[in-house]
Amino acid sequence: MACSFGKGLDKDTGSFYCVIVTLLMAEPRRKKAAPKVDIYKAWCKACGICVAFCPTGSLARDEAGYPYVKYPDKCTNCGWCEIRCPDFAITVQQKRDEARKMRESFEEEAPEGTAAPGE
Ligand code: SF4
Ligand code: SF4
Repeated sequence: MACSFGKGLDKDTGSFYCVIVTLLMAEPRRKKAAPKVDIYKAWCKACGICVAFCPTGSLARDEAGYPYVKYPDKCTNCGWCEIRCPDFAITVQQKRDEARKMRESFEEEAPEGTAAPGE
């Protein structure tokens, strides 16, 4: 038998068990989608604040000084770039979606007459 997972079992059961275990182990881990960071160049003045405050180094500046997402996989969805941009030129989409979902779930669970945060 090629694997040790089916040890002590009869040949057919052991082989079947080995196949199942192998398939389960081979399944690729689902990768979390990278947060979507949008940069509106028309509003951006290339000050570099977002790049300087990004705690993970996900952002970089191009030759003209404009920011771009260089390492999307490093982005932790913290939203610092959006918060720090003085010109509202950068948004972190997933952060907004999560905030909206949280707000909706709060509204569903809240007893009648309870205001959602920010209302
Ligand atoms: S959301 Fe956070 S980690 Fe992602 S690019 Fe903005 S500052 Fe960097
Ligand atoms: S902080 Fe805002 S204006 Fe400054 S470079 Fe980043 S996106 Fe552009």
